[in-house]
Amino acid sequence: MDVKVLPLIINGEEVSSVSSDLIDVVDPSTQQVLCRVPCSTREEMELIVHSASEAQKKWREVPVQQRTRVMIKFQTLLVEHKDRIADVIVRENGKTKVDALGDVTRGIEVVEHCLGMPTLMMGEAVEQISRDMDTFTIRQPLGVVGGIAPFNFPAMIPLWMMPIALGTGNAFILKPSEKVPSAGMMIVKLAIEAGFPKGIVSVLHGGKDAADFICNHPAIRAVSFVGSSLVGRAIYDMCTKAGKRVQCNMGAKNHAVVMPDANKEQAINGILGAAFGAAGQRCMAISVCVFVGSASSFLPEFVAKAKEYRVGHGAAEGTDIGPVISQASLKRIEQIIQASVDAGATLDLDGRGVKVEGFDKGNFIGPTIISGVTTSMPCYKEEVFGPVLSVVCVDSLEAAIHFVNANDMGNGVALFTQNGGAARKFQHEIEVGQIGINVPVPVPLPFFCWSSSKGSILGEHHFYGKSSVHFYTQIKTSVCRWEFKDIQSDAGAMHFSG
Ligand code: NAD
Repeated sequence: MDVKVLPLIINGEEVSSVSSDLIDVVDPSTQQVLCRVPCSTREEMELIVHSASEAQKKWREVPVQQRTRVMIKFQTLLVEHKDRIADVIVRENGKTKVDALGDVTRGIEVVEHCLGMPTLMMGEAVEQISRDMDTFTIRQPLGVVGGIAPFNFPAMIPLWMMPIALGTGNAFILKPSEKVPSAGMMIVKLAIEAGFPKGIVSVLHGGKDAADFICNHPAIRAVSFVGSSLVGRAIYDMCTKAGKRVQCNMGAKNHAVVMPDANKEQAINGILGAAFGAAGQRCMAISVCVFVGSASSFLPEFVAKAKEYRVGHGAAEGTDIGPVISQASLKRIEQIIQASVDAGATLDLDGRGVKVEGFDKGNFIGPTIISGVTTSMPCYKEEVFGPVLSVVCVDSLEAAIHFVNANDMGNGVALFTQNGGAARKFQHEIEVGQIGINVPVPVPLPFFCWSSSKGSILGEHHFYGKSSVHFYTQIKTSVCRWEFKDIQSDAGAMHFSG
């Protein structure tokens, strides 16, 4: 059977690449090749940047309210096609339909926030900084900007970037993950249908070469990257050397601290959902549970509840955990589990070797719980990115805060307690950018921003929220002096009649 090669989107049109260098997009439940992604040629990439640059010169002149009207149509189309986009995500990424719908919905919320762009883009002014003199700032678009996306949120993450870049008056070039390209393509096509002009939003396919091109091309003024820490650091170095703005959201190691006074049921449901949902492939997945004092007695109930999670095809009714993205990823996760056990950890629940009827070739692994974990074990040192929960025990809240703060990553953290004083102390002292109190996955809505910290981020500006408007715009400050001259008293002055 012929497998479709995805087109590029150049100047508002689908264009077949001439490249013979193709990457298979593989269904993680079956290993069936769903489609292929071309590695764009140098000429194709140059053409995309050229058309984007030309289109942006006109787009920046379009009044912000008019740009926002296109955004309203874009939001409507996304809502209309949400189910279709989610189905593609289930096929290419493997996550459950419920998760896939959440993926699209979180992205649409960013578009909705952009409907306030005229207000978001407002500058500042101070009158009378000296006699007859005022100062004000305005925000202007940068020009052409690029976005490099990961596999785990095929819709949400392109939408963390694209609407803000377009709404502020830039042209945007998306490089979707080569593992899950179709949702990003559908979103870009809907943006074009909504009325974003030709060339204003494009798709450039490929892997490392395409990402390197975006980071090095002088006409691309800013790069948004979301992905692994290793790649993020390389992207950051390339972009800063090329003198461009860059924001990189990278890897994570998220802890949930459980106090003895926690609502046990809430803690169990919240933490297991955050550890195993989307097969643990969320950057906000809880991967370490830190029991404080007698909370360690909750462990058997965590294990019992985890056994109820159903592993299966993302589209199957009742599935809680779909496959992980690739065979390589599955192998890596299994090796991390084994190496941790070899280093002395206890395997309370082993998800390796799980069988899903009808999907013998799928990259499936069931919920796994490892206790007695130390900081030197692979399951603690690495971002596992699979349905694996490590368990650590400490004596006090103080010790738990110290333990979490010693970790290099700063994406998310949660505390489960009924004590307001403990919660207050935790949020005051914890060195992690996004904190949940009795909330396992504390993702800020788009009117805030993605405020991760430490090793999970490089760059000054955060994704979405006001910070992202700042990322995609350049401020200009004007200092103006206007002296008043009474024109009535001037000889030969123009006569104004009412
Ligand atoms: P990845 O780093 O492998 O890939 C991300 C993007 O970079 C893809 O588009 C890929 O084509 C490109 N890329 C891959 N290798 C490259 C290279 N050597 N040079 C240049 N570009 C390259 O990440 P992934 O596996 O797709 O995504 C999972 C990772 O993303 C996890 O570490 C996860 O924590 C992280 N993530 C972070 C956040 C966050 O907000 N912090 C959100 C989602 C995912």
